[in-house]
Order: sequence, then structure tokens, then C-alpha cells
Amino acid sequence: MEEIKVMNMVKFFGLLLLYQSPKHGYELIKEIESQMGKKPSTGQIYPFLNTLLENGIIRTKEEADREKKVYELTPEGRRFVEKKLEMFGGIISATIEKDLSTCAHCGCQVYSGGYEETIKGEKLTFCCTHCAGTYKTR
Ligand SMILES: [Zn+2]
Repeated sequence: MEEIKVMNMVKFFGLLLLYQSPKHGYELIKEIESQMGKKPSTGQIYPFLNTLLENGIIRTKEEADREKKVYELTPEGRRFVEKKLEMFGGIISATIEKDLSTCAHCGCQVYSGGYEETIKGEKLTFCCTHCAGTYKTR
């Protein structure tokens, strides 16, 4: 199970890195390593790149002055990554919003670690003690 998760993260990073710029296979491996702190094996990367090639997500580009192939996203591949990002973005904001509360005074959104105070028997959340103080005196 753990292995599958890591594998998915490697794939996700790989796609993001290709979205930034076209890369050689070894560049991809090096950059995934520096982002994740763990070196992916070539056995993880190359079969994945081949699947992407077969599905038209990426294509290879020969560089005249360099021997090795460069992988780049096709226009369809860029849309594919953008869709994935939207999906992840939706999950992330839904997760964060669950932990959000609103400052009872200024109405700004408070992430975890807001200031709580019970005023007239009601437990209220504020973004800061200043807002709590102002709320009480109004
Ligand atoms: Zn506030």
C-alpha cells in the first residue's frame, strides 16, 4: 500500500515537473528526488513515461546538440495536468475550509490557531486578541 502511494506521488510530481518545462528522463528523476527527498527508481519512471507516451500525454523531442530525448507535454497533456490540478485544488480547499472559522469581529477567515473567548456564554472565535477586545467594547 505504502509503495502505491509513493508511486502516485512520483507520478504526480513527474507530471508537474514536465508541466514546468520539458525534461530528460534523468533530469526528471533528479528533480523528483530533490522535491521528495527520495530517489525514484528508473523502473518507476520509464514505464510511466512510456504509458504517457502511448496515451498522447507527452511526446519526445530530439535535441540536435544533445543525444538524449527530451520529454514534453502535448497540448492534451497540459490539459490533463490542469484537470488533475483543479481536482487536487478542490480537495485541498475543501479540506482547509473544514478547519476554517470566521472572526466574530472583522469577519476574516481564521485557520487553526485562532483566538477563542467565551463572551456572554457564547464561545466565539477571533483572528486575534485585538479583535476580541474591540468586539467586547462595541
Ligand atoms: Zn478579526
